Amino acid sequence: MNQISKTIEPARASLDPRKFTDPDVTASGAVRASVTLGKLETLWFNTGTLCNIECGHCYIASSPINDRLSYLTLSDVSSFLDEIETLGLGTREIGFTGGEPFMNPDIFALLEASLKRGYEVLVLTNAMQPMQRSPIQNRLLELNAVYGDKLTLRVSLDHYTAAKHDVERGPGAFSKTFEGLQWLVDHQFCIDIAGRTCWDELEPLSRAGYERLSEDLGLTIDAYDPTHLILFPEMDENIDVPEITTECWDILGKNPSDVMCASSRMIVKRKGASQPQVLPCTLLPYDTQFEMGETLAQSLTRTRGAIDHGAVKLNHPNCAKFCVLGGGSCTVS
Ligand code: SF4
Ligand code: SF4
Repeated sequence: MNQISKTIEPARASLDPRKFTDPDVTASGAVRASVTLGKLETLWFNTGTLCNIECGHCYIASSPINDRLSYLTLSDVSSFLDEIETLGLGTREIGFTGGEPFMNPDIFALLEASLKRGYEVLVLTNAMQPMQRSPIQNRLLELNAVYGDKLTLRVSLDHYTAAKHDVERGPGAFSKTFEGLQWLVDHQFCIDIAGRTCWDELEPLSRAGYERLSEDLGLTIDAYDPTHLILFPEMDENIDVPEITTECWDILGKNPSDVMCASSRMIVKRKGASQPQVLPCTLLPYDTQFEMGETLAQSLTRTRGAIDHGAVKLNHPNCAKFCVLGGGSCTVS
């Protein structure tokens, strides 16, 4: 548990070890909920787990030394883009996450390959040193000039104050990200912000804080629009959460089609693997029960582990805590 959680969160029960063990049934014997892919709206690529910093809360445990997910190459990405077309999946958006995507030496080839095919492209970045290198900024400017609002950068800003952001990301992290954000604003990039909800403050207060920060930056973003300022709930796999059964959707008034794995998939390449793997979402990068195969075609019919004919059984605490109960819908960086 990170330092913030220790100081501001009340004590919570640790995860009951009987939960999230059987993909088919919960600890109480109820049928576990599953989610079927509707349309593949967004295909995410994890460009690699290496990051310039090491955040206490990072759900993927990225750091300057974590290379458990390798850098994706152009040929890795192109084969999935080809498949989208041959399978007629009608995908709208290609997302890039890490780690820090601007550390991947091929990142611009990956971005251009996606933009050239007409997709909307979303890049999750901390906007720090890797993005602020001159060659990177020059390439970004070129892409922005050609593709404009087809390219969006979503910048992670855990909190709108330096004091809280830096507790998670290290001294000086806020000012470095602010600098990167200011550069993006000054050069008229499409920008979203990703914050967090762990601060023991009400959401309207958080959004008002980000609104003030946006005004300081000259960033025209509606801080009350959850598609442009995304506030992510916490993901701590060790905190006890209820398991999601087939009955929970009605009880909670939730629709399975609103969960990320109903409209997304993520591609990762594990260290030492010859081929990338398809995963249901960005939130379970290491749990092999969610591996769906080496191609999108395989992922549509796969039955293995927590995957049933291409549907995803919600056999992980993140499914409950982040997606169904927490309302999270996309990845963090
Ligand atoms: S973590 Fe969320 S998006 Fe991922 S498989 Fe579980 S419910 Fe689906
Ligand atoms: S949260 Fe983002 S910036 Fe922090 S270590 Fe993880 S990938 Fe890097």
